Amino acid sequence: MAIADLKTQITGLIKLQELDSEIYALNNKKIAKPQEIKVLEASFESKKQGLAELEKKSLELQKQRKERELELAVNVEAVKKLQGQLYSLKTNKEFQTMQQQIADTKADGSVIEEKILISFEESDKIKAQVENENLKLKEEDKIFSEQKKKVEISIKEIEERLSQLDAQRKQIIPEIDQKMLLEYERILHSRGGLAIVTVKDNSCGGCHMLVPPQVINLIKMYEHIITCEMCNRILYINE
Ligand SMILES: [Zn+2]
Repeated sequence: MAIADLKTQITGLIKLQELDSEIYALNNKKIAKPQEIKVLEASFESKKQGLAELEKKSLELQKQRKERELELAVNVEAVKKLQGQLYSLKTNKEFQTMQQQIADTKADGSVIEEKILISFEESDKIKAQVENENLKLKEEDKIFSEQKKKVEISIKEIEERLSQLDAQRKQIIPEIDQKMLLEYERILHSRGGLAIVTVKDNSCGGCHMLVPPQVINLIKMYEHIITCEMCNRILYINE
């Protein structure tokens, strides 16, 4: 290959690398996007879960209260029954024992009543919490949808830019020697999207390994493609 040819080829590869660097960066960004949506979704779902648990707790309280109300009804009946028996008793002692029993049963009833009252108070608190959480969740839902839309828009923008870059790439490619292009692409894919690098301060722009003076001379001669001994990337010198 003539010297002028190799110089032109290298110039073509440098142009291609500029496009490919952006393509690589954009592709990486695009790959990370669905994860962003997943993170948002997980946070939203966990808040929904919190609300569901509150609602479950509220139902459990209601169920518990119904059981206590039944218990109280049984207790009231028991008191009535005991009171009914009170005047059929014959001795004073029996009367006193029964009265004590009635007082004890009533006391049990008071404890149940107290529990029912507390349960109502708890229910009210949870209801307020549920309402509050519902409002918050509605707001979160709005934010979540907006953020999701933003991520989707940004994916679309990336895709549009990628197709622009691809079109530009297609314009440059015919100018490059087929064999050289294949070599460039092989390095590009094995070296994280960076195939051709400049030598700066006597070191490789890809891996920062020192490039010996005789290698720098070889690059300047433009007789062959020169690659970095360490990372195998194509080297060139900014003139
Ligand atoms: Zn290198």
